[in-house]
Formats: sequence, C-alpha cells, structure tokens
Amino acid sequence: HAKVNGRNQASFYDRSMSRDLVRRREIEAELRVAVQRDELSIFFQPIVDLATGRIKAFEALVRWFHPEKGELRPDEFIPVAEETGAIITLGNWITAQAAKAAATWPEDITVAVNLSPLQIKAPGAALGILNALREAKLDPRRLELEITETVLLDHSQQTEDFIAELSAAGVRFALDDFGTGYSSLGYLNKYPFGKIKVDRSFVSGPNAGKKSDAIIRAVSGMATTLDMAIVAEGLETVEQVEAVKAAGCTLGQGYYFSRAVPDYLAAMLIAQEREKFEPQRATG
Ligand code: C2E
Ligand code: MG
Ligand code: MG
Ligand code: MG
Repeated sequence: HAKVNGRNQASFYDRSMSRDLVRRREIEAELRVAVQRDELSIFFQPIVDLATGRIKAFEALVRWFHPEKGELRPDEFIPVAEETGAIITLGNWITAQAAKAAATWPEDITVAVNLSPLQIKAPGAALGILNALREAKLDPRRLELEITETVLLDHSQQTEDFIAELSAAGVRFALDDFGTGYSSLGYLNKYPFGKIKVDRSFVSGPNAGKKSDAIIRAVSGMATTLDMAIVAEGLETVEQVEAVKAAGCTLGQGYYFSRAVPDYLAAMLIAQEREKFEPQRATG
C-alpha cells in the first residue's frame, strides 16, 4: 500500500508541478507579445502628503489584462520577465508610458517607477531612461526610481554608475520595501535616496503593531535628520493613517486614499484635488 500511495503522491506532485510550469511557460511566451497586443497597461496610485491631503506623486504599477487568464498581478509576471530578460524591454516601455502620463500632470506632481535589478545592469540602462524622459519632454526631477535593497546588495559598479549618472541628471531615487530585507543603514549614506518607503507589513498584517510603530518612529526620525521623506505604504484605514502620522511619516500611499487607477482616472483625481485646493486656478 505504501508503495501505491507513494506513487500516487509522486504523480500528484508531478501534475501540480507541471501545471505551475505550464502556466509559467505560457506567461513567458505570452508576455513577449503582450505589449504588441495592447494587453499591458500602467496604473497610477497616488502618494499623498499626510499633513495636507494633497497628491504629491503617483506610483506607476504595471497591469496585465490577459484575454483568457484575466488580470495578472505583477508579482506573478515580473519575476518571469526577470528570469527571461524580457524585463529590459518591458521596463523601458513602462518608464516611457509613465513619463508620458506624468508630462500631462501639473509640474509639482512626480511619477515613481519601480526598477528591477536586471534593468539597472543592462548596458545603456541610464541612457534608456534619459531618452524616455526626453521623448516625453518630462523634467528628470519629476521622475523617481524606486529600487529595493536587493539591487544594491552586490555592490556592482554598474549600479553605482547608473545611480550616479541619473542622479546627476536630476532623477530622484527612493528605497522601496524598507524593512523587509537587510535594511542596512549604509545604503542610506552611500546613495542619494530622497525617500524611504516603509513596507506595508509594518502598517498592516500580523506583524504590525506597537513594535512596528516604534520601528517606523526610529526610521522616520533618522530620515528627517538625513533630509529624506518617509512614505508609509499600504494604508487602508484611518487608524493606520493616524498611527503612521504620529510615528513621523510625512507621506502615505494605500487603498485608504486610492487604489492604482488608469491614467484618465489619475488625471481626474488631480483635477478634483485642484478644484478643492485651488478653485481659482482650476476654473480660471
Ligand atoms: P511595490 O513597488 O511595493 O508596490 C506596492 C504594491 O502594494 C502594489 O502592488 C500596490 O497595488 C499595493 N498596494 C498599495 N496600497 C495598498 C493597500 O492599501 N493594501 C494592499 N493590500 N496593497 C496595496 P502591485 O501593483 O500588485 O505590485 C506588486 C509589486 O510588483 C510592486 O511592489 C513592485 O515590486 C512590482 N511592480 C509593480 N509594477 C512594476 C513595474 O512596472 N516594474 C517592476 N520592475 N516592478 C513592478
Ligand atoms: Mg514600489
Ligand atoms: Mg513597496
Ligand atoms: Mg513590494
């Protein structure tokens, strides 16, 4: 019996494993043509000044509306694109789309774009971003690149050059998902980060609470001293907003304010807030 069971189990694992593999292969193949088929689009989630409630920036988040599979989350297909190298072409496309949208917004609103490690190490990576900015006629100071610590771990020359070149051109950098990796303070000293984004896990979920509030407080104290802004990610309730404000965060992002929305809705959010805060400019 044991033998039969063992074999059944093995074939069960084989089958579920091959199902995952098949889906992965499909995603891999279909991602190559998804841009041409117009299945990908960039959504924008507002980043809000917690003191005034005004929109300071939007984070560009890629979405894939697959004709059969439905909406695919970036967490599923970005890793595949990283493995196959497709992220380089895809990433260039994302930056170009985000820059184009941002060029239509008021000048005091910036756009944040997530970068994968591979994108940064590709030859001509910095140039590609500067070209996208030029084509969109977007001031480099209105682009912020979000990178995670993983990007910095290998201390490569390419990464250093990439950051130095773009930062000299005026592009800003934000350290994303802070608190999930090594959270090495050395990076904050070495690279020109203007922003630290505290990971959502500190705001909600099983690990949020008194302890994570204290961590946010410590990080925001340090960020203020270093002249960096601190953003709380994943704010879903008014209580969370109050808590991170009390802990010293100056900016916030999350479903409490808005989900990521298509470009025409982002433009509407901007118009609405201009109406509210500067009615004379919005109408005149
Ligand atoms: P991230 O850069 O940390 O982006 C924040 C994620 O949190 C987004 O998920 C966003 O939709 C989600 N989020 C925002 N507010 C809330 C909230 O209040 N509650 C909850 N539960 N979630 C919230 P998304 O769009 O699924 O993206 C996941 C990750 O995929 C991103 O994490 C980023 O690492 C990556 N990603 C997304 N777009 C791109 C892209 O264009 N290029 C690259 N390289 N990576 C991307
Ligand atoms: Mg991000
Ligand atoms: Mg993040
Ligand atoms: Mg993340």
